[in-house]
Amino acid sequence: MSDLALAGVAYAEANWGRWVARCPRPLCTNALALDPGQNLFVCTGLGGCGIDAPVIWPADPQAIEAILEMRPVGRTRNWLPGETLEDLLAENAAHGCLTPEILALAGLAGERPVLLATLDGRAVGGILHQQLVAAGRREIGA
Ligand SMILES: [Zn+2]
Repeated sequence: MSDLALAGVAYAEANWGRWVARCPRPLCTNALALDPGQNLFVCTGLGGCGIDAPVIWPADPQAIEAILEMRPVGRTRNWLPGETLEDLLAENAAHGCLTPEILALAGLAGERPVLLATLDGRAVGGILHQQLVAAGRREIGA
């Protein structure tokens, strides 16, 4: 049993490019897909135990999605609570998974381009943030 399970809340995580949450009830092994912004986990379906629990989202799910979408292989589009945007971006860079658009913009931005600036886990500046703004920022719960 993890501390997360004891807390009685369901943590959103990205798994193969979709948002899911695991049931926080001890011994229940159910996990369900989440819609962005969904704030209540209800443990239903085959194997569901019937409890409900609030869903805890990362500070900036849309930025996580944008970074994961740069990865060409769906099963590598994963994020777990505690991983930072910088962690994900560094993994992308290490595996050659920065999109040509990002690299082109970085090239235009000067010698030391800022790909991403964050504050409290949210993208607030840099090239990736500019792309998110251009695409339309989504607020959780909106
Ligand atoms: Zn359950």
